[in-house]
Amino acid sequence: MRLVAAALLVVAAAGAAQPPSNVEQDIARRVRADVEFLASDSLEGRDTGSKGYVIAAEYVASQFRAIGLEPAGEKGGWFLAVPFRRASYEKQPVLTMSVDGRQVPLDPAKDITVRPSVTEKIRELSAGFVFVGYGIRDARYKFDDYRGLDLKGKIAVALSGAPTGLPSDIQAHLASSKDRFAAEAGAIGFLELPRNDGQRGNSVGRGGRPLVDWVDGAGKAGSVPPGLRLQMAASGEWAARLFEGATKSLDAVRKEAKANSRVSPHGFTLAPLITVRSESKWEDFTSPEVVGVLKGSDPALAADHVVLMGHLDHLGMRTDAKPGEDAIYNGALDNAAGVATMLEAARQFMGQPVPPRRSILFIANTGEERGLLGADYYANHPTVPADSIVGLVDLDMPLLLYPFTDVTAFGADHSTIGATVAEAGRTMGISVGPDPMPQEALFTRSDHYRFVRRGVPAVLLMTGYANGGKPYWDAFLAKTYHSPQDDLTQKIDWDAGARYALLNYRIARAMADSPQRPMWLQGDYFGDLFDPNGPRAAR
Ligand SMILES: [Zn+2]
Repeated sequence: MRLVAAALLVVAAAGAAQPPSNVEQDIARRVRADVEFLASDSLEGRDTGSKGYVIAAEYVASQFRAIGLEPAGEKGGWFLAVPFRRASYEKQPVLTMSVDGRQVPLDPAKDITVRPSVTEKIRELSAGFVFVGYGIRDARYKFDDYRGLDLKGKIAVALSGAPTGLPSDIQAHLASSKDRFAAEAGAIGFLELPRNDGQRGNSVGRGGRPLVDWVDGAGKAGSVPPGLRLQMAASGEWAARLFEGATKSLDAVRKEAKANSRVSPHGFTLAPLITVRSESKWEDFTSPEVVGVLKGSDPALAADHVVLMGHLDHLGMRTDAKPGEDAIYNGALDNAAGVATMLEAARQFMGQPVPPRRSILFIANTGEERGLLGADYYANHPTVPADSIVGLVDLDMPLLLYPFTDVTAFGADHSTIGATVAEAGRTMGISVGPDPMPQEALFTRSDHYRFVRRGVPAVLLMTGYANGGKPYWDAFLAKTYHSPQDDLTQKIDWDAGARYALLNYRIARAMADSPQRPMWLQGDYFGDLFDPNGPRAAR
């Protein structure tokens, strides 16, 4: 393994030393042109729902037209309008708590906060609490923290995190699915407590902040599992008080969790009852996904869609900038660079003598920075038949600052797309590096994962750590990421942009032309969970 990687690196380094050809210079210039427009100050950081974002979306649609793609949004157009809702409180909600009929004073700003609701404008309810360990459920790893507990109409109280000893992306998947598991068990509320003493929870202050979600015509919301009416946070002090009068104290279950980190502490019913009355203020707006298609040429395969996508939105404007300070989150690399290289990959398709066999769907996503909302909405409301989406590559934040010689493909080890990326890279002297930050579990934290949840094999592609990439990543993540400095004053390596665009083209082309659709690998956790009946590839 090591030897193979080292050998590829030598080849790659030799390749990188050659000056770019005229063709590559043309590509680099076009990538630069797109990044410069999308990251310009005029677009004011492309915030979801802003005018700047709409102009960026119009630009992408216009480029799609110029390239020769066909509109694949709703109503025959380029866009799919995502219905967003911002929910906030005008007045703090009224919370009262009692233990054995005794009133316990509660400060909704400090003790327990309840997220504003995007599904119930006025919310009134009373409920008890049930401790559920980590609150996870999984058939393969035999976790069922809800077994034997009656959650009907109750609020599930879970420790943060998940048992150790699992691969990091599975652990992250379980940790981020808890409110879903709780709702499936019949709970109407979910409250997560910090797993360790002294560790701040998903802090109480944030719990009551305005939140943005998508809500469709049927009342379904992106981040609210069906049936869940309360998503809450509690301060450390109140976390302990929730356990007063129960069979065990919070301290005791925390100790239990520490003593054996591979299993959940057993759950039990808690004594307090809470009454909640809240009124949320709603502000509805839309922001578009931009969708174009290149129709496949093989009558037997053209109904399949391979997706290449990247998020077009970024963080907008800083509200706390002092006069004279840079207030615009330009998002040049996050993710004007991903969208620009996607556009160039589309151009590469048009320049070929033979069109791809499968159709290619190009999507610029909105709402990524708000919680992967645009991609999630698209995955739930696709403009092509859902089961026609056979595989997906997500381009997010390629660091075009150095002559990269490897890429990271998060999710490569779950499906045949990993081998496709490796093969496409090999033809260009680009290797596939190991996941440089497994602890971040990026496979479950990006737009593509919303399609994985619908059973679609997918990878998230980024430039890798080889050939001096690591210090660039370290510096970018420490200083530039999600700051106004991610702008056009960075020394962007446009030749790297050209190579990245060409690689994206080759990957999508290989996925589109292969006789087999992309497949989950035999026995893969995510494939078995989200696409249990689909075809499998041998490992
Ligand atoms: Zn970002």
